[in-house]
Amino acid sequence: MKYRCVECGHGMNTLFVQYSPGNIRLMKCENCKAVADKYIECEIMIIVIDLILHKPKAYRHLLYNVLDSESLNFQNLLWKFSFGFLLLDAYMCLNINNVKDRSLFICRSKEEWGLSTSIASFIWTCQKVLMDVVLGNFVFLATFLLAMRILLKTSIGSLRYKDILLAILISSYFKMCLVAMMVWQFPSSVVFIIDLYVLSSNIVALKVITESALSRCVLTCFSAHLMKFLVTQALELRTL
Ligand SMILES: [Zn+2]
Repeated sequence: MKYRCVECGHGMNTLFVQYSPGNIRLMKCENCKAVADKYIECEIMIIVIDLILHKPKAYRHLLYNVLDSESLNFQNLLWKFSFGFLLLDAYMCLNINNVKDRSLFICRSKEEWGLSTSIASFIWTCQKVLMDVVLGNFVFLATFLLAMRILLKTSIGSLRYKDILLAILISSYFKMCLVAMMVWQFPSSVVFIIDLYVLSSNIVALKVITESALSRCVLTCFSAHLMKFLVTQALELRTL
């Protein structure tokens, strides 16, 4: 089955019948008898609000009925999302390190400051952020896949890894709030709140895509996020 009912997750061949342009009839699910995908007729803001509210049916609509993994653009989409994710992650690392870096440089004597120092500090920060992002996300992905194999082994057989990866990338959409931090000043604790929200979104997306028990999804996502956090903290301690 190509599509899913957003209410119960039952497979659907088609979600609507089109009689004429703009005149459609939404199909009902054979399993739960509800309209299979009511979001087809909804404004995008309704879908965004339901995603923010962690409603599994909004995730089902997005992951099963909007993003078609068979389409040619899927690979392209995956690369774009990955690039966006890494970029936001780099900005997140930069924000976390920013306060520490500032305090570190203030401690240095004034004679040390100069053009060469500022260039060196810029290169040093870039290196640190790059290492945090690359190593942190590598550990995140490795832990995530390992935890999936151990905890969700019953359901992973029918899924492709790139579908799961896309679900994780999309459910990390809340990182886009970091863009607001470029305009307005926020305390660095906001970064951790965003991280917690991303963790909970990842759990909902994983539950929707694997249809596994919530506790296993929580454990999988939590272990991956925890390992990433520990690795970035270890890198911090090493560079200080
Ligand atoms: Zn249904």
